[in-house]
Amino acid sequence: MTDRTTPVLLVLRSPGGEGHVPPVYDVADPHAPVAEALDLGITRGDGVFETITVVNGIPQALDAHLDRLARSAAMLDLPAPDLTAWRTSVFAAVDLHSEVPEAFVKLLYSRGVEGSGQPTGWVWMQPSADFTRERTEGIDVVLLDRGYPSTVAETSPWLLQGAKTLSYAVNRAALREAQRRGADDVLFVSSDGLLLEGPTSTVILKLDGRLVTPNPNFGLLPGTTQESVFEIAAHNGYKTAYEALTPADLRRADAAWLVSSVRNAAPIRSVDGAPRAVDAALTDSINTGLASRTT
Ligand code: PLP
Repeated sequence: MTDRTTPVLLVLRSPGGEGHVPPVYDVADPHAPVAEALDLGITRGDGVFETITVVNGIPQALDAHLDRLARSAAMLDLPAPDLTAWRTSVFAAVDLHSEVPEAFVKLLYSRGVEGSGQPTGWVWMQPSADFTRERTEGIDVVLLDRGYPSTVAETSPWLLQGAKTLSYAVNRAALREAQRRGADDVLFVSSDGLLLEGPTSTVILKLDGRLVTPNPNFGLLPGTTQESVFEIAAHNGYKTAYEALTPADLRRADAAWLVSSVRNAAPIRSVDGAPRAVDAALTDSINTGLASRTT
């Protein structure tokens, strides 16, 4: 019998194969090793991942996450993931996990042991942390230079901007820099002065009565939560747009959020120490809409 906090671990038998006959996964002891010491996911961060929020047993935006897993894998020249096997494993993890209001499932897909030609893949599920404070009181954000121009995806695709790779050491370092500056989170700015994204989130501004986010072509990871927020907003009569945005836009915006799976919409209450307005009612309606997704 699993208790509330027992995570679930499934190891895929053929994460990059096709037409694998069931069972496509093995249930593993969550504390047992799942990869060899020389797995390239571990030694080089050479792989991709997804984190999917699960609300009341429903994996949110699952199709968008699986599509993005395949897109990230293609950008790394990994074998195309067997999305049927991954989808089956996500639902199996949800079935095996004890019922909790909010949990997350992580999909990890690596190139495997060097020279083996066999990718490795596993699925992990555990309860989410409580993000009530961030969702209601808001977060303090610092702007950090990402050091790349907004054209990076086009000029230097080998930098893999816009892929959700396992190499998140830079993203973690940026978050530690935010903490050193007394903030909660980061919003990256391109070397040519455009707002980009957070290390694990997408920025959305309420600007001139519309909801606006930076164009993913600027080397950004297209956010599944942002996409859902735009659907909710459109349903509530808001116009939405993908545009080039600057720190000045952030300052004059009526409201701003960092949005991501698991934490959902966290209103930005200060930027580089300067307080900015929070729209509590709209934040609440966005987070209620996100939590009520049925797919
Ligand atoms: N941008 C980056 C770099 C991310 O790592 C993430 C999520 O981790 C996001 C944006 C937000 O994506 P999603 O809303 O699909 O979680």
